[in-house]
Amino acid sequence: MTYPQHDLTNATIMMVDDEQINMDVVQAYLEEDGYSKFVLENNPERAMDTLKKARPDTLFLDLVMPGKSGFEILAEIRRHPDFKYLPVIILTSATDSENKLKALELGATDFLAKPLDPSELRLRLRNTLGAKAYIDQLAFYDPLTNLPNKRLFQDHIDQAFRKAERHQQPIALLSIAVDNFDSIHAAVGQAAGDEIMKQIAFRIESVVRQADTLTFTREAAGAARNFYHTDGNVFSLLLDQINQAQDAATVARRIMAVFEEPIRQDDAEIYITLSIGIATYPSEGSNSATLIRLAATARDYVKNNGGNNFQFSSKTINSLYEKRMCLESLLRKALEKDEFDLHYQPKVDLQSGLIQGVEALLRWNSGHAGMIPPVEFIPLAEETGLIVPIGEMVLEKACRQLSEWRRQIALPLSMNANLSAVQLNDSELISTLNTIILQHSVPARALTLELTESLLMNNIEEKIDLMRRIRDLGVRISIDDFGTGYSSLSYLSRLPVNELKIDRSFIVNTPHLAYDSSIVEAIIFLARRLGLKTVAEGVENPSQVDFLKRVNCDEYQGFLFSRPLPAKNLYDIFLKPFERSAMAAGRAESGMTP
Ligand code: C2E
Ligand code: MG
Ligand code: MG
Repeated sequence: MTYPQHDLTNATIMMVDDEQINMDVVQAYLEEDGYSKFVLENNPERAMDTLKKARPDTLFLDLVMPGKSGFEILAEIRRHPDFKYLPVIILTSATDSENKLKALELGATDFLAKPLDPSELRLRLRNTLGAKAYIDQLAFYDPLTNLPNKRLFQDHIDQAFRKAERHQQPIALLSIAVDNFDSIHAAVGQAAGDEIMKQIAFRIESVVRQADTLTFTREAAGAARNFYHTDGNVFSLLLDQINQAQDAATVARRIMAVFEEPIRQDDAEIYITLSIGIATYPSEGSNSATLIRLAATARDYVKNNGGNNFQFSSKTINSLYEKRMCLESLLRKALEKDEFDLHYQPKVDLQSGLIQGVEALLRWNSGHAGMIPPVEFIPLAEETGLIVPIGEMVLEKACRQLSEWRRQIALPLSMNANLSAVQLNDSELISTLNTIILQHSVPARALTLELTESLLMNNIEEKIDLMRRIRDLGVRISIDDFGTGYSSLSYLSRLPVNELKIDRSFIVNTPHLAYDSSIVEAIIFLARRLGLKTVAEGVENPSQVDFLKRVNCDEYQGFLFSRPLPAKNLYDIFLKPFERSAMAAGRAESGMTP
């Protein structure tokens, strides 16, 4: 059911007539006027079922039909609670006054005489829809804020539930109460209180409208049909396009943020706070009534605990969210407290067995929660944008270390550092990179940035452009975890990259699984054709090394050779033998001159 407020041509028009041609003619006339939503039914027996599905704004009903007459259908419509007030325009021959009376008695809204006069058709439809829109406005919209009211909310949440069940899509309901509503009203009086309420609605709506950047589409937000004024001081927001329950928290936070600024009313500044309760399907409510109750309970809980906050109704989601919030605040402080460190894992040449370079891997030793592995905090750092300063710190530390080692040893050691796709969106990336390289005077070609394959595939053209600019600096690019994303081979040939790192999941079962071995062999073959270096990740046993040598892989990394190590340990174990002084001494001993 649509509830046209202004644009009547948006209305859904249903017709029931056993002669299809009659309906086609009406449709053709009305299409000229801009109407576009039609539901045609030529079988009177099916009329009620179609009506229930289509929930039209008005119905054109033929009277004389085989099987079931228009009278019977009309009577049935008026008995049905949902359609008691549906405008029904009866199509009848002009002369038949007895039938007209009978139809009126049964509750017909208007008549149209056959054969149809197009002008009359248009006007009668317009007036009928106009009257319906007015009634709908009164019945379904709050007169103060002009937002859809409780009745429409109930209708929509039922529909949203059915859709969510069918498509296995999560939905979230936010119940939003204005904390100090009563005292504000008492202080400023009824009229000013109403004005403030309008402004509150307007502010929340502004968040709802721009929320498309995060969780729901512009279409849904633009129509603002998800936001309701359900009670005196209570609003309800239905999010039916979220990816996960926690998305609702982001929306709640944004709503609260727009009230940090006071509302101005006749020179006075009034601070508004909100209590927001969130309930989600399918994790919690299994029907709309439960969902509404849970959201309201969570909202009241917030209110009773001082308000100005939001809360999920479910303990599990709440604790998940709190854990995340806690991690996020620790992460923000970690940068200031310098809790990050880099470990380095050797990259080894398969033919010579010699160390070629290292990959810098981020380690976070949180004073609070101990060692936290990158898989746990990097996604969060990406979501919050913290990966940009963190990533900059990684590049800085890695280049400083590389420069120091290259001064100490007589080996053209190279450094790999991981770059998050989020960093590619940072407009400062190129200049930051350039500054760091110059500052530590490392040769750019000794630095390789690893980009994860799966993250590269969105906005590919923009990314290619940026990768080119990175390469223009002389820095090399590697595709990390290759094989786990969905990059097509044609893309691969267009990407400005130097190296492929074959994901550990393919290496783990080589050489004993023929299928995986073939994939690895094929990747290496392809990479060679494209002039790319190949690196196998996660090598843990000697048979894998033998296999990789045989299929001409260039380098490998893995626990077999070494785990990632702190800088000092790595130096002592793997780099010390290449110290300039040690090598010079070695040459002197063996009687060689430099
Ligand atoms: P990655 O870049 O693919 O790094 C390889 C991961 O595999 C590392 O995990 C490493 O410790 C692990 N590994 C190496 N050899 C073996 C092996 O033989 N067996 C097994 N089972 N694992 C092995 P780590 O250090 O936990 O890092 C995980 C991921 O976190 C990295 O995967 C990378 O995507 C990300 N990451 C690490 N540091 C950074 C960073 O500074 N910036 C960004 N954006 N991401 C990073
Ligand atoms: Mg990597
Ligand atoms: Mg990897």
